[in-house]
Formats: sequence, structure tokens, C-alpha cells
Amino acid sequence: MGKAGDGTLAWLRDRNRQRVVAVLRTQGRISQADIARATGLSRTTVSTVVGELKDLGLVSDVDGRGSQPRGGRPGVQLILQDPEQVVAGIDFGHSHVSVALADLAHNVLGEQRRDLDVSHQAALALDTAAGLFLELIGELGVDRRLVIGAGIGIPGPVDLGRGQAGSATILPGWVGLRIASEMTERLGVPAAIENDANLGALAELTWGAGRDCTNFAYIKAATGIGAGIVIDGKLLRGATGTAGEIGHTTLDEAGPLCYCGNRGCLETVASGPAIVQLVGRLDGENLTLSRIVELASDGDLRCRRAISDAGREIGVAVAGLCNLINPERVIIGGLLSRTGEVLLRPLRESIRRHAVQAAAESVDVRAAVFVERAELLGSLALALQSSRERIPVK
Ligand SMILES: [Zn+2]
Repeated sequence: MGKAGDGTLAWLRDRNRQRVVAVLRTQGRISQADIARATGLSRTTVSTVVGELKDLGLVSDVDGRGSQPRGGRPGVQLILQDPEQVVAGIDFGHSHVSVALADLAHNVLGEQRRDLDVSHQAALALDTAAGLFLELIGELGVDRRLVIGAGIGIPGPVDLGRGQAGSATILPGWVGLRIASEMTERLGVPAAIENDANLGALAELTWGAGRDCTNFAYIKAATGIGAGIVIDGKLLRGATGTAGEIGHTTLDEAGPLCYCGNRGCLETVASGPAIVQLVGRLDGENLTLSRIVELASDGDLRCRRAISDAGREIGVAVAGLCNLINPERVIIGGLLSRTGEVLLRPLRESIRRHAVQAAAESVDVRAAVFVERAELLGSLALALQSSRERIPVK
């Protein structure tokens, strides 16, 4: 009798995986066909093992052109990522900075958070993030040279071309600041930047309610309302990075003026401030959005009504999105999603009412897995994705 597990499927897979990894380790870069030849495994087995290793972030594709000394057919080759390597995620909220580290197998290793007036103190926020990063790698005993990239989240639109905040009204202290390059300089590693709704979508895609799904829309319903759209497993960014600004969909042309300069946007009736204004004071208490969410979950009728009305309005805009992109799933995140069905039921009804039948019938509307940590986890997912895309092509 052999060791426990010998001969089982899991053991076999593990052994195959070790053989593939060993070849990658000795060869540096190698095609899938050559791995099959070197290990004696079938091409199908190699393809399965390589797929698993890719899912774990341990193997990446590189362009094989120029690396065929005997003038062979150029093609995709594979390289092994160092399992010791890590990425950093940085989340700038309006009033906090969080930093986390993850390894390439998608394990979150640690997190740090500090409260700070981020909106108005950009330079201090960037320095604080760099300080938290150093504290964290010290605490975890990670060699700084093993950090290969960082993802940054900001609570507002991002100008991807310039790597800076795309709106002066949302982050007043950050105007003109090249956030990605400032952070790259402070951390000494390449940094990528995204807005909060797109990061929420990446967090759900990597670890949450979108893991088994390649076409979905993530809606962040909190102080603002934004969408992160995933098509064929990739984030849709648009020409300048502002895709998904669903909060500024016009619902009523004669409606109240929105801070964006238009009238009757979704945010004028369903954003956090709109809900707070609608509910007003309760028993002499000035309510915050999180208090309203709490009261609605506890059964307070006025708070429940305000949130379900917001759900109905959000559903109208999401119905339009369903008509355009026909998502398999709509994942609702942000603070409002904490109320569960109070928000989701009217939202689903609105989609059924306003979207074409085929799109409305097939879409599965559910709550996000992450609420408070969505942006931080998303910034890690962004760093993992960007470091995969940055693998050198010879
Ligand atoms: Zn607007």
C-alpha cells in the first residue's frame, strides 16, 4: 500500500502539475507542445494543468516570437511566475486609505487602514499609502524586491490616459495629480489605477459573485451610483475610461439639477444624499446613509420605502443596460446592497418592466459578496491583472 492519496485523481493531478512546473522551471520559457514532449504527458493533460496554473496566477503566456533559435514556428510560450512574488492594492476612500498585499495565487496576505481626509489632502494620502505599504511588508516579512506591481482605487472617475482623477468636483484636492506615476515613484513598482465601481466588479470577478460568470454588470449603489461592466471576462473601460457612469443616466429631463450639470439624473433620486434628504430627520436624529440602511434592515417603514424607491429607479437605468449588453448577471454592491431584498426586489421588478423580455428574463440579479472591502480587494485584483499583462514580450 502506498501513501494515503496515492493513485487518486487529486494526487495524479498534483504529480502532473509538479512535472509541468519542473519543466517550466528548468526551461524558462517553453510552448505547451514542448512541455508535453518533455514530460511525456498528453497535450490534453498539459493543457488542463496549464489552465489551472494560469488560474492560480503561477503561469503566464508570453509571445514566443524571436525566441525560436532554429527558426521554428512562432507561437505562445509559457513562463513560470515566482510564487513568492506579491502585489499591492491601495484603496483611497473619501476619508480613509487602505493597503493590502496578495500573492500570485490570489491569497490576501495582510491589510492596513488609516482614517484621513483623502478628498482634500492628496499628497498626504499618497505618502500615507506608501507608509502603510512599508509597514505591511515589514510586518509580513516580505522582501520588497518581490513586490511586482500595485493597483490603486480612487472614489471617482479616472482619466486612464493621464493616470489621474477625471473630475475636479468629486476629488477637489487631486486635480492635475498624476496618481499612478506618483505612486509608482513612491513604491518603486508599476502602479495601475481604476475607479471604485470598476474595482468592485474586479473584486466580484476574482473572488466574489462573478467568479463563475464572464458577462455581468456590477452596480455600486452607495453615496454615488456607478457600474463596472465585465464583458467576456474583461472590464469594459471605454475610450477614456468613463464607461459605466450609470448614475448620470437621465430619468427625467425636467427633474432636479444634478451636480454633473444635467437634470434628472439617476443620482438625483437614488444616490446616498438623495435618500438621506428624502428620509430627513427621524425622532430628532440627523440620519446618515449607513444609519438609514441599518434602520431599513431593522424594519423601519420610511427607511425601507426610501431604499426600495431607489431600487426601482436604479432598475430603470439597469434595464437600459440589460438591453444594451445582455448580461448574464447583475451584481448589486455598495452600502445600499446591505438591505438585501428591500433594494433588490423593486430593482428586479423595474428590469422586468423596462427591459426587453429576452434580456430581462435571463438576467440573474443578486447582491455582491463584498461591500466594505470591495475596492481594496478590487485594487489587488487590478494589480494581479496588470502584472499578468506586463509580462515582457521579446
Ligand atoms: Zn448627473
